[in-house]
Amino acid sequence: MGKKLIGKTIFSSARRTFAAYGIAFGLLFPIASTVLDIWLKDLSFSWSHVLLVQEQQPLHWIIDLAPLVLGWIASIIGTKQDKLQKLNENLSGRVELQTKDLREQNLRLRSEIEERQRIESELKQAKEAAEAAAIAKAEFLSTMSHEIRTPMNAVIGMSGLLIGTELNEEQKEYAETIRISGDNLLSVINDILDFSKIESGKMEVEYQEMVLLDPIEDTLDLLATKAEEKQIELLCDIQEGVPEYIISDLAKIRQVIVNLVNNAIKFTAKGEILVSIQAKKINNKQFEILYSVKDTGIGIPEDRLNRLFKSFSQVDASTTRKYGGTGLGLAISKKIVELLGGNIWVESVEGVGSTFSFSILAEPTSNPSSFPNINYLHGKRVLIVDDNATNIKILEKQCQSWGLSYESYDDPLEVKHQLAAGNSWDLGILDMQMPKLDGIELAMEIRKIFSSRQLPLILLSSIGYVLTGDQKHMFQTILSKPTRQRTLLRQICRLYQQDSGFQDRRPSQLTEQDIQQLPDLKILLAEDNAVNQKVASRILQKLGYQIDIAANGEEAVKAVEMINYDLVFMDMQMPVMDGLEATEKIRENISDRSLIIIAMTANASPVDRQRCLDSGMNDYLAKPIQMPQIFDMIKKWFVEDRRINIQSVS
Ligand code: ADP
Repeated sequence: MGKKLIGKTIFSSARRTFAAYGIAFGLLFPIASTVLDIWLKDLSFSWSHVLLVQEQQPLHWIIDLAPLVLGWIASIIGTKQDKLQKLNENLSGRVELQTKDLREQNLRLRSEIEERQRIESELKQAKEAAEAAAIAKAEFLSTMSHEIRTPMNAVIGMSGLLIGTELNEEQKEYAETIRISGDNLLSVINDILDFSKIESGKMEVEYQEMVLLDPIEDTLDLLATKAEEKQIELLCDIQEGVPEYIISDLAKIRQVIVNLVNNAIKFTAKGEILVSIQAKKINNKQFEILYSVKDTGIGIPEDRLNRLFKSFSQVDASTTRKYGGTGLGLAISKKIVELLGGNIWVESVEGVGSTFSFSILAEPTSNPSSFPNINYLHGKRVLIVDDNATNIKILEKQCQSWGLSYESYDDPLEVKHQLAAGNSWDLGILDMQMPKLDGIELAMEIRKIFSSRQLPLILLSSIGYVLTGDQKHMFQTILSKPTRQRTLLRQICRLYQQDSGFQDRRPSQLTEQDIQQLPDLKILLAEDNAVNQKVASRILQKLGYQIDIAANGEEAVKAVEMINYDLVFMDMQMPVMDGLEATEKIRENISDRSLIIIAMTANASPVDRQRCLDSGMNDYLAKPIQMPQIFDMIKKWFVEDRRINIQSVS
């Protein structure tokens, strides 16, 4: 290194070095040639001989000029060399500079990467912590809700018992307020429980083959009375091309529809609610099923629309005061719909109404009974009379899809004119509630001309309407609104002595008399699914019972210990403790065999039935439960010879 430095300083300039070489060689030539000349001439070396040789040999002058010429050439070469070297030095300087730059950039990049990696790992940790916290929160909520449910059940159950005792008006009002508030609180807790189940990822989809329309029809059954009380028309429109059977989760779809229809009724003061359903084929295996619930209610301001599906969100604070609710329903619906592969959205105009729609993806299945032969209906002429335009449209579409031709009127007086003009039809579908002339009055007009064989009539009416005396003979049948498509078809087919091939699940109408013969009973329902709870309580309410609810087997065991129930409807599959275990525990704890326990099960195989009986249950009901079966069951165990039945299982 040191040597190199010295060399560099001495010969720092090539021009100088080469000039030195030039001078050295330039001096060497004349001196050497002079010395050689003196030596060749045998002369002694002295200054005078040098001058002599110079004088005699003019060539020497030329040789003497050599230092000058050589020095000049060398200095030119040196200068070039210098430039080259400088260029080289510049170049290597630049390379060095760039290398340094690159090295620095490299370092910076490396530290940036390290920083990013550090942030990433911190983020990951934070995300994991947040997820763990969310799960912990959801689990806490879920445990809390369960813990709250137990004392709440006692409050509700006991207040129910209290109502049944002798109370003065004031006390009765207080007790009823406790009961109603208890029920409301329980439904809030159920919402929270559901929400926390979704948040902690514990909500699972249970796929099964199902009738596509079942969730809608169950919902309409459940909420028809509520709509009726507010005098709102509840309508259902099933578009063509909707598959009859699909594979999906009935309870979850029903939960969403119940929530949307419930909201629609809640936020609508007058008008109608239309539930429609259509299907779009996506590929050979999948359909997109689109449900929508359209109301003519208060509507939602545009700037609030996107907040609705967030948890605990309501349009404004006054909503809770006026309409109640937790603001969780739509958030839960959104999650459920997403689990089913779809979306949920809303369109609304304030003061005009809202349409909530959702889609799901589902695989259709073909069931042989889905395509009955109804050719014999083709061409029959149907008279449709209804003052509601939407309902007319729905009935027309249904008739069309069954090959019936139709004439529809929104004004019953017009039908009177047609009758007078001699018009005739094969079948009449009349709405009951119409202005000017109601369904019964119109039927009376029709019967003046046509007998029931000539023109059979079907009356559409609100739930609970009972035909009296002569009215019974005027109509072939009376169907509750909203009418199930299959029920209507089945009734039409019956008129022509043929079966539609559809399995109709709608209960045959029970009369007031039937219901009155049922005894007073204290009933507990053990069922974890919130909508199933509502369906069952609604049915039992129609039969005159106010029931208590337990959300799992453990709660049921505790409830039975506290309250002297006559009858328990026990779901088989429940979280925490299932129906079989709960029944065994109840039978262990309570010696009173007069408590009747009836299983509710989706799997009604003989093996399951035996398992129910072995665990100490008295009987079983196949799900989905329906009013006539429940009615028969209560009659069987509490009206008919009950002791024989009890002995047969004990
Ligand atoms: P909840 O009804 O229990 O408060 P939801 O999540 O079901 O909770 O609904 C959230 C809010 O959305 C309601 O409080 C109401 O402000 C608004 N909303 C829902 N459905 C309708 C509707 N059909 N018409 C008007 N507003 C509605």
